[in-house]
Amino acid sequence: MDFQKLADRLFPQITGTPEEMEARYPERNLPEGAKVTRIAPSPTGFMHLGNLYGAMVDERLAHQSQGIFYLRIEDTDRKRLVENGVETIIKVFKKFNLNFDEGATLEGDNGNYGPYTQSERGPIYQTYVKYLVSRGMAYPCFCTEDELKEIHETQEANKENFGYYGKYAIWRDRSEEEIYEKLDQGAPYVIRFRSEGSIEHKLRFEDQIKGKMEITENDQDVVILKSDGLPTYHFAHVIDDHLMHTTHVVRGEEWLSTLPIHLQLFDALGFKRPKYAHTAQLMKLDDGKKRKLSKRKDPELALDYYFESGIPVAAVIEYLLILLNSNFEEWRRANPDASYNDFAFSTKKMSGSGALFDIDKLNDVCKNVVSRMDAETVYEETLRWAQEYDPDFASLLSKDPAYSKAILGIGRGGKKPRKDFGRWSEVKGYLSFFFDELFNPDFSEMPAHLDKELIGRILRDYAGVYHSAATSDEWFAGLKELCPKYNMTADMKAYRQNPEAFAGSVGDLSMVLRVAVCGRSQAPDLYSVMQLLGESKVLERLEKAAKAFD
Ligand code: GLU
Repeated sequence: MDFQKLADRLFPQITGTPEEMEARYPERNLPEGAKVTRIAPSPTGFMHLGNLYGAMVDERLAHQSQGIFYLRIEDTDRKRLVENGVETIIKVFKKFNLNFDEGATLEGDNGNYGPYTQSERGPIYQTYVKYLVSRGMAYPCFCTEDELKEIHETQEANKENFGYYGKYAIWRDRSEEEIYEKLDQGAPYVIRFRSEGSIEHKLRFEDQIKGKMEITENDQDVVILKSDGLPTYHFAHVIDDHLMHTTHVVRGEEWLSTLPIHLQLFDALGFKRPKYAHTAQLMKLDDGKKRKLSKRKDPELALDYYFESGIPVAAVIEYLLILLNSNFEEWRRANPDASYNDFAFSTKKMSGSGALFDIDKLNDVCKNVVSRMDAETVYEETLRWAQEYDPDFASLLSKDPAYSKAILGIGRGGKKPRKDFGRWSEVKGYLSFFFDELFNPDFSEMPAHLDKELIGRILRDYAGVYHSAATSDEWFAGLKELCPKYNMTADMKAYRQNPEAFAGSVGDLSMVLRVAVCGRSQAPDLYSVMQLLGESKVLERLEKAAKAFD
């Protein structure tokens, strides 16, 4: 068979050579040990936590080693594409502050190793496919859907492995005449790679996460170029990661089963294999059993969920790092205020089995992360969230930014910052009582053991003596002084020893005021609240509450 003639017949438009390609994509000029990584999502419109999980690994590996992290769009599966799929990918990664050094952007390609969208790389793949055909290493296959179905059924009946291999690889050794006859007829075809592998052979491989493993060679003649002239994932990934000089391919472990194909292709093309890191599936506990996170059952798999429910981007990243590296939490305890960029991320600390996603843990992380932010950041982030998801709240917040920031500043800073909320969507509930528009007091939260008449009396009296100029200490001293008037005590020890002897404690007294002023029992430091609300509003609320206890 004249393979060169066949190659020219199949790809008359391709005149370039692999050597020319190699020259177009030269070695990168990077410091020793620099890693080149990429995230290569398909624009299906659905961005999930797994995408971000992998992207974090890529980002850390590259930027920790002064390397390159780039975005490649894998859109060769035309059936799965959705409109704006690429835009979604770019915008979502931007929201998570993942900074790509290169790749597809909303304004077009950025970098010298493009195009970064696979559908724009047709001639590049075809150059290599043509080369393989010219060497007898790949061939056209004219099998119809029906023939493939028939092969599958025979294999099923014979209890054999499925696929296109051995005697089932029916176009592998066809004569020149048969091939040209089909071509003359204009029959559609795909190009398959001629596998020299055997399932009797194992190959050794070391994964960056899973360690050493032995895997069975590939004996299938897989499709490398589809009838539409675009490559399959297997081939595209090999060509792109080679030409773009990816050093580390981080991807989901669902690709492990086809890894033998990829290694085989790298070897056949004479390319240096990249290192692979196959990340474990994200799992969750469901009724005590571990299972994969599912698109259908678990809203938290979709990245949109995090935006909509106001989960801080910083908390998602923090939580993913906890899932990714077993020593991250320990490091965080020792370095509470450091940037996660200072943490020495390593694939060696990643679990080879499933990472367990736990929403309660994420909620804790959210509270911790938010508690360490300054009021300005909390304000900006809450406002940004509200502008998109709760515009009324956004206008309330931005009516008097200084007031909003002062509210959000209560209990912030210091060793034990308050942890009232972890999501931007929770801020409204937390600070509602600061705004008359949202104030909706619940007096049933008054201390239950105080009688109504006493509560009313306290409120009326206090409205008569309150003035906002006092310091926090003076203010509290004032409360203590009031205690005897109501047979209450500021001596907590005495109160605990003999509660029956008193109507209540100074704690109860301040609770009465808190529920009157804040409309609920759970609220930040009452003195600070009163200062912010201002004297007239505090008096107004005390009087209003007193009426409820007349
Ligand atoms: N396009 C593939 C996917 O979305 C990427 C796999 C890879 O990173 O190589 O799963």
